[in-house]
Amino acid sequence: MNDDQLLRYSRHILLTEVGIEGQERLLGSRALVIGAGGLGSPIALYLASAGVGHITICDGDQVDLTNLQRQVVHRTDSIGKYKALSAQATLASINPDVEVVAVTERADDHRIGQLVADADVILDGSDNFATRHAVNRACVVRRKPLVSGAAVRLEGQIAVFPNRAGGPCYSCLYDDEDEWLGDCQGNGVLAPVPGVIGTLMAAEALKLLLGWESALHGALLLWDAKRGDWQRVALRRDPDCEICGHPRLSSP
Ligand SMILES: [Zn+2]
Repeated sequence: MNDDQLLRYSRHILLTEVGIEGQERLLGSRALVIGAGGLGSPIALYLASAGVGHITICDGDQVDLTNLQRQVVHRTDSIGKYKALSAQATLASINPDVEVVAVTERADDHRIGQLVADADVILDGSDNFATRHAVNRACVVRRKPLVSGAAVRLEGQIAVFPNRAGGPCYSCLYDDEDEWLGDCQGNGVLAPVPGVIGTLMAAEALKLLLGWESALHGALLLWDAKRGDWQRVALRRDPDCEICGHPRLSSP
């Protein structure tokens, strides 16, 4: 690290749990962020400010006026631009150390598989179940850690799936027909709810990149913003899960 980096990351370096070695590890790490919306915004902001060296942001949508109430990585003058490019521009102004790759397509299974293969950690803040299941499949097949979050109305949730042998996967929790959240588009959401959940997702990703055990492994954390309640639910692997129950599932 050069002198500017030692200053920029000094509050990390002061932590015995991080130190210079941990910060260098973050600078050499690769994170994939699916979705540059309400969850992806705080995720991208914190991963970049924390010095995760390579961040790929995948989102095929463009910024519109209704996004700005909660998608804090975008600016009013970004309306009409691709969200991935808008986020890339904001992150460059916060931390030019970080390489940010913007993927402006709605990635199909094959593309998601390629992106997952290149990442050390995957953060899914997408707004639809088809993408969530595609990301989960790719993470299970390639044994990549997945940090999954969701936020809608006044509720949020987060879970970490290390995808080592034996643990549950996202599909053990939600099968294709489940609609706890429905598609997030079209629902109301209190502005800071995705901010809280996305920020927790970024914290869990940093812990994974630093090689710490995730305290959320095998647990789902639920937040009721109206009541101010947190609830922790143990997750178990579904032995009939179509995704992680078939270890010989081939790559897409
Ligand atoms: Zn599973």
